[in-house]
Amino acid sequence: MAGGLLALELAGLGLQVQLLDDGSPDRRATGWSYGAIAPWVPQLWRRLQDRHGDLGWGSAWFRPLGGWLALPLPCSRVDVVRLQQRLPQALAAAGVICSQASVEGLEPPQRSAGPWRLRLRGLPEPLQAQQVVLAAGAGCRALWPDLPPCLRVSWAGVLLLEPQPGGWPWAGPLAMRLPARFLRLALEARAASLSEEAWQVDPGLLPWGDRWLAGQISLVRPGLGAGLPPDAALQEGRLRQALARHLPLVAGWPGRFMQVPVSFSSSGEPLVGPVEGAPGLWAFAGFSGAFAAVPALAPPLARRLAGTLG
Ligand SMILES: Cc1cc2nc3c(=O)[nH]c(=O)nc-3n(C[C@H](O)[C@H](O)[C@H](O)COP(=O)(O)OP(=O)(O)OC[C@H]3O[C@@H](n4cnc5c(N)ncnc54)[C@H](O)[C@@H]3O)c2cc1C
Repeated sequence: MAGGLLALELAGLGLQVQLLDDGSPDRRATGWSYGAIAPWVPQLWRRLQDRHGDLGWGSAWFRPLGGWLALPLPCSRVDVVRLQQRLPQALAAAGVICSQASVEGLEPPQRSAGPWRLRLRGLPEPLQAQQVVLAAGAGCRALWPDLPPCLRVSWAGVLLLEPQPGGWPWAGPLAMRLPARFLRLALEARAASLSEEAWQVDPGLLPWGDRWLAGQISLVRPGLGAGLPPDAALQEGRLRQALARHLPLVAGWPGRFMQVPVSFSSSGEPLVGPVEGAPGLWAFAGFSGAFAAVPALAPPLARRLAGTLG
């Protein structure tokens, strides 16, 4: 999402943009996200859709879990299945070149005004670019280890529920359940002081394409790297146990447990702007409420970047 929405803004300013993505859904936080947005920030998505067509955003209702109020509340939400279908079309229409490519390394310019060189898996010749934006989520630090230490990675686990012959017992416009308060944010804020891994469940139940998604368990480790995915059976057990308290029917429902690394910033401030000590390299990662933050932060970053190019 971050790379795609920024590319749309850059192309809108007349820049020539190439978006590289390795296309592996198991590494993409956006694809497993709740996509929930607080009711007071829908304007940004409305504007995006006015310009680029349907991107999966719409208004919705949810019933809060874990709070004292269980009445339906308005919110808005990006259907991430639709976003991933529609974003490539919007990018193509805006003139962004999209390439499925895994970036293996970045080489800074050898001369002050020279290009950056990107080594791509399977290609003998590096790609050259005047400016490079790291919008690779949890993959950013592997590409440029010298990023600020506040940029960290959590592992999120969700259950993609299997349809049953009788259909979903909880379907309907008011069936969506979201946490009254996302406890993962407090866990992220503690990340820099952790001496051992810690986890937190934010129970939720949402439509996901024609399926339903139940989640979410977040695990944070001390240190800056993503490391290997956590023990799936252990994480699934913890998630189902927490769901049993809030959504008993869902807790035992058959489903596939998926885990994905998610970048966040332990300071609460995402990395948005030039990378220190690396002229021509920019970062756009580490969002906590990405679906509200990215559409707000992409336009000013695009203008700043375009400004450096004259
Ligand atoms: C279960 C769950 C629920 C969530 N709920 C919400 C929510 O309700 N509201 C909210 O605002 N946020 C939510 N989030 C967080 C939000 O989804 C993420 O912060 C956001 O999607 C991150 O987007 P991104 O584009 O930065 O990263 P990603 O979506 O992870 O995209 C990064 C991309 O970079 C690619 N990449 C990485 N390394 C390389 C490389 N070397 N070469 C080429 N490509 C590479 C990856 O393949 C990936 O496609 C949730 C996350 C999860 C997992």
